[in-house]
Amino acid sequence: MKALSNVLFLMIVGGIILSGATLSSGVEDTNWSVRRMGMLSSIEADVVRHKNVLGFARLTPGVRHALAKVPRHLFVPEKFRVRAYDNAPLPIGHQQTISQPTIVALMTELMAVTHGDTVLEVGTGSGYQAAILAEVVSHVHTIEIIPQLVDSARKVLADQLYHNITVHEGDGYAGLPDCAPFDAIIVTAAPPEIPQALLDQLKPGGRLVAPVGPVNATQWLKVWVKQQNGSCNIREIIPVRFVPMVSGGI
Ligand code: SAH
Repeated sequence: MKALSNVLFLMIVGGIILSGATLSSGVEDTNWSVRRMGMLSSIEADVVRHKNVLGFARLTPGVRHALAKVPRHLFVPEKFRVRAYDNAPLPIGHQQTISQPTIVALMTELMAVTHGDTVLEVGTGSGYQAAILAEVVSHVHTIEIIPQLVDSARKVLADQLYHNITVHEGDGYAGLPDCAPFDAIIVTAAPPEIPQALLDQLKPGGRLVAPVGPVNATQWLKVWVKQQNGSCNIREIIPVRFVPMVSGGI
């Protein structure tokens, strides 16, 4: 288990820095797609290596397709663009980070989403995880507490023509009762405990994936599966390190 967290969270960012590729005439420079496939191979190697704790050995086709398609370099600040396809978290400003691609892949798999689902993401950040989900489900509601990140995520998602994502500004501790219930919920910042409001907004049979635990210490990635009688089965997956889920004015 320790090895896994080391691999996933203390990965040394290295490798070759290729010359900056640019977009021209709406056609993606092949450099980016080649590097994106490199990122995907790294994710798939992580999944195989840790199949016993994860409970699966390969990505489902929908998630794989999403990771191969979404241009992560457009979701990170320009100065980090050359590292966009390293399998590593990166700063996105406001002391927040875009999650490591392996973590995005695992959390998306653990949500067990399918075409036709409506999902909630708490912690929009860059908008990348929302875009990955939007490739698989029919609608993504995502909520972010930092107004500047709401604005930048709305812009990049609109530029990428994601019409099936709604970015809400607000405190995710309350969830989004007006849009509930959801087939699945993902929380991408760590609360000390899972907010009851989020469990309440899950459909029977729905899955909630979240890191839970103290600030600046190891948290656990867990999955809640809501039963028909409203109770939840809970599974602990791996130790992780996320930014804290804050409440109220930060
Ligand atoms: N999913 C993001 C990564 C987000 S990092 C991505 O793909 O880039 C976690 C995000 O959660 C940060 O943007 C942070 O501002 C946000 N956040 C923290 N507490 C929150 C809260 N109570 N409600 C909504 N968003 C919150």
